[in-house]
Amino acid sequence: MLGDDGDMTLAKRLLAWHRGNARQLPWRSEPRDPYRVLVSELMLQQTQVDRVLDRFEAFVAAYPDLATLAAATEEEVLAAWSGLGYYRRARMLHHLAREVRAGTGALPTSAAELAELPGVGPYTAAAVASLAFAEAIPVLDGNVLRVASRVLAFAGDPRTAAGREALLRWLRPLVEEGGPPGLVNEALMELGATVCRPTSPHCARCPLAPDCRARALGRPERYPPPRRRRAELAVTWVAACCVDAAGRWLVRQVTEGPILRGLWLPPIAALEPGASPEEVACDLVGGRLRAPPQPLASVRHSITHRRITVQPIRLALSSTRSASVTGRWVDPASPTVPTSSLFSKLIKVNNLSSQDAGE
Ligand code: SF4
Repeated sequence: MLGDDGDMTLAKRLLAWHRGNARQLPWRSEPRDPYRVLVSELMLQQTQVDRVLDRFEAFVAAYPDLATLAAATEEEVLAAWSGLGYYRRARMLHHLAREVRAGTGALPTSAAELAELPGVGPYTAAAVASLAFAEAIPVLDGNVLRVASRVLAFAGDPRTAAGREALLRWLRPLVEEGGPPGLVNEALMELGATVCRPTSPHCARCPLAPDCRARALGRPERYPPPRRRRAELAVTWVAACCVDAAGRWLVRQVTEGPILRGLWLPPIAALEPGASPEEVACDLVGGRLRAPPQPLASVRHSITHRRITVQPIRLALSSTRSASVTGRWVDPASPTVPTSSLFSKLIKVNNLSSQDAGE
């Protein structure tokens, strides 16, 4: 039960703020479509709202429901996901669609059942169950975790099981009794995303300010304590950049390794200590060259904790025939295969070098 009248007032203030201030986002149109909610929640994991806005409508236009998604190939789904990164989410969504289609054909409605689907963790399950099916279950995402930590001035680590439970003790009555559960959850998430920012929270605009202990104590940014960062891993790759007479690039599908699997990129390999980037690039492609390999300006790229330095080598092939056996030639403006933002960076540095060279 809500602890006292103060908590109820807090819920009312929170929902009034949400009515007047929440952003209009395409996945929030009423009535909520469980499929659109699920797709948006998966896209929003680890990807900024602006980037999701760029891709969401096109994705759900191409695949408006689980049936169309299940009928697509993985390559088509990855292509539609291009630009969002973290492609494992797209693979899991595709897998989920096929699993649901093979079963009842419809998404389950409870968080417990949703959490059994591929790629759906407790947070996503709670978000879909509360937003689309009105289940009274708190959604403890990063934004809500920050808001709750600050309102309670929670001194421990809210990312531990005990810490999460402490926050959930405050959240449960709010979600169960404070109003429609999906709206309460969405209001808390929205407040964390737009007002209770990690640094410089806008406390003067916050509906929870009268109840916020961290604000009363001063320096609310101290809550929650910073997350311990995973150690960075520095690696160097070589990319063989081959462009044919029509301006098309040679790309190959990455079939192994923990990252970029399933995506199409210029032939790429790790550079072992002592190895020559030019030789690695030539080995990657094979075939005879019209001119010596040309190193281009290196490119930096990050994937999770990996800090990758990519050394592009431009190769002028005498013939595109042998390279075509293991790759495809694609128009860089519309590659038609799923790729990574790393490809855009390589195209850019290659174009700059071409101009520099006066070609
Ligand atoms: S008063 Fe400030 S610190 Fe507290 S919840 Fe609101 S924005 Fe966050």
